Amino acid sequence: MSLVNIAENLERVREEIRNACISSGRKENEVLLCAVSKFHPAEDVVEAMKSGQVLFGENRVQEACEKFTQVEAMGFTPDLHIIGNLQTNKIKKACEIASCIQSVDREDVLREAEKHLARMNRCLEVYFELHTAEDSKSGYGSEDDLLRSCENIASGLYPHIVPKGLMTMAPFTDDERLVRSSFQKTRILRDRLNREFPNLPIQVLSMGMSGDYKIAIEEGSTMVRVGTAIFGERNYSR
Ligand SMILES: *Cc1c(COP(=O)(O)O)cnc(C)c1O
Repeated sequence: MSLVNIAENLERVREEIRNACISSGRKENEVLLCAVSKFHPAEDVVEAMKSGQVLFGENRVQEACEKFTQVEAMGFTPDLHIIGNLQTNKIKKACEIASCIQSVDREDVLREAEKHLARMNRCLEVYFELHTAEDSKSGYGSEDDLLRSCENIASGLYPHIVPKGLMTMAPFTDDERLVRSSFQKTRILRDRLNREFPNLPIQVLSMGMSGDYKIAIEEGSTMVRVGTAIFGERNYSR
């Protein structure tokens, strides 16, 4: 038995999401919750699903594959998003198990994914990860590179890839201005992409984690990725 009450935590996080929506003048159901279950076992995912959670985020493909195979064997049908950076040799597997890769950080991911998706004859949603925090390395380092990827999709180079949004991680800091600025940059880029590529369905702003999701919602987030506040601290030695 885990000491963490997942059902109660989910209830509280949902309540706080609702409150943040209301206090920033947004509709209550505008923000989706992606429950980040990395480092937590299949049983925890099942417990969350029993409380109505369907969407989960994992950052390692191998771990996700093993865990979600177990979850499905227990009779559940979760929706999985990959949120961690992918080595090229993990992209095929990611295309097989996830409905979305939120952490597309380079053109190569699109090229490699397209190759496998075409063979599988299926489409995959992607978010582009924008690098906005000094203390992290992940995400497209330059907006120009990201724009070029959008151009290539718009010109039909990757027909099995559906670009649905942007993702970012704010810096881990108490300085709220830095956190806000990271989210603002991402929103501004989303709006620019919508102007420059009106035919691409880029709408989602996946931003906000356990420590900063309320700020993210104030800054326009439409999806928060929350792990610790739902499942408790991660045990990295497991
Ligand atoms: C781990 C992780 C999260 C969740 O972090 P918490 O602080 O535990 O809520 C969100 N997004 C990404 C990309 C992550 O790797």
